[in-house]
Amino acid sequence: MPFAVAGDELQIGGISVSRLAARVGSTPFYAYDRALISARVKELRAVLPAEVHLHFAMKANPMPAVVQHLAPQVDGFDVASGGELRVALDAGMSPALISFAGPGKSDTELTQAIAAGITLNAESPDEVTRIARIGAALGIAPNVAIRVNPDFELKSSGMKMSGGPKQFGVDAEAVPALLKDMKSLPIHFAGFHIFSGSQNLSADAIIEAQAKTLDLAVQLAAHAPRPPGLLNLGGGFGIPYFPGETRLDLARVAAFMRDTLAPNARRRLPGTQLVIELGRYLVGEAGVYICRVIERKISRGQVFLVTDGGLHHHLAASGNFGQVVRKNYPVVIANRVQGSKRESASVVGPLCTPLDLLGDRMDLACAESGDLVAVLQSGAYGYTASPHRFLSHPIPVEVLV
Ligand SMILES: *Cc1c(COP(=O)(O)O)cnc(C)c1O
Repeated sequence: MPFAVAGDELQIGGISVSRLAARVGSTPFYAYDRALISARVKELRAVLPAEVHLHFAMKANPMPAVVQHLAPQVDGFDVASGGELRVALDAGMSPALISFAGPGKSDTELTQAIAAGITLNAESPDEVTRIARIGAALGIAPNVAIRVNPDFELKSSGMKMSGGPKQFGVDAEAVPALLKDMKSLPIHFAGFHIFSGSQNLSADAIIEAQAKTLDLAVQLAAHAPRPPGLLNLGGGFGIPYFPGETRLDLARVAAFMRDTLAPNARRRLPGTQLVIELGRYLVGEAGVYICRVIERKISRGQVFLVTDGGLHHHLAASGNFGQVVRKNYPVVIANRVQGSKRESASVVGPLCTPLDLLGDRMDLACAESGDLVAVLQSGAYGYTASPHRFLSHPIPVEVLV
C-alpha cells in the first residue's frame, strides 16, 4: 500500500483520513495524493531514457486539478474526447504536445482539435478524409498521425486493443495505401501511434510489443510522405490490483528501452520522437475511494458492511468494468487499518443489486457504523468510469490532496 498509516489511520496527502473526511464534508469521495503522483513520475524519469517522451493518457483521470498537477511534470497529454481536450488546454499544455486518439471523433471534435493545433491520431481512412476537409475549410493544415492496428497483440494484457479486427486504428496492411493517399491531401503527416493494450504486468510482453512496434513503424515509414516526426509506442504499464499479482518489473522495461529500443530507433528512424503514453501507471495507485459504513448487518453468519458508496461510484472495484472473474480490490477500514479485532466481512453499497459489492468476504478490522472504508488503487478509471446516475444517489466529491 503506497499510503502511510499513523495512529492506525490511513494518511492521504499527509492528512489522516477522518480529518480529511471532515474537511471534504461528505462521503463518499475520491482522494488523490499529489505527492504520490509526483513520486511516480520521478521514479519513471529516473529510469526511462531521456529521449523517450512521457505522456499522460488523460482518460485514466481527467480531474482538472490532477491534470494541472501533472502538466509541468510530463511531456504531453493524450486526450480521447473534446471534453478532455478542453481540460488539457486549460491546464496550459502546449498544443504541440497534445494528441487526440479514439474512434468516432465527431466533426465538432475534429474542428476543435484542428483549431487548437494539436495532433490527431486518425483511426480510419474516413477520418483522414474528414480531417482534410475540415482543415481546408478552416485554412489550417492539420497534424495527423496514423493510429495503426498492428498485426500482433500485446500478450498477457488485461485489455487487448490490437491484433485481429478492431475498431481502433487502421489495419497495418492498409496503412501504405492510406499514406499514399495522404500525399495529395492538405495535411501534415505527423507519425504513427501504435497502442496494443492496457494493464500489463509482464515486462517480457511489453518489451516484445515495443520491439515489434518499432519494426512495424520502420516498415510503414518507407511509405510515408515524409519521415515520421513521432512514434507513439503506446504504454500498457499495469498496476497490481488483485491478490497474487506482482508489480511490473519497471527496471527491466526501462533497461530495454534505454539499451536497445532507443538506440535502434535513433539508427532506424532518425529524427523521430519516441513517446509512451501512460494512464493508470501514473495515477492509479495514488488514489483512494472513501465511503462510510451506514450499517453493520449479519446475515446467516456473514458480516456485511453496508456503506454509502458502491458500484455507481466505482464500477471497477465492483468487478463490472471488463473483469472476467470478480476479484477484490484492496480494501481497508481506513480509520482503523489494523484494528484491535479482525473478521471476515463483505463491503456492499446501497444499490438494489447483488452486483453492488466492493469487497467480498475480506479480512478486515472489525468495523461499525460511522467507520470509513477505503478502496485502494482507485486513482484511475474510478470516478469517470462509473454510472453515477444509477439509483439517483448524490455524486461523489473528488479532491487532490
Ligand atoms: C486508455 C488508453 C491509454 C491508457 O491506458 P492505461 O492502461 O491507463 O495506461 C493509453 N493510450 C490509449 C490510446 C488509450 O486508449
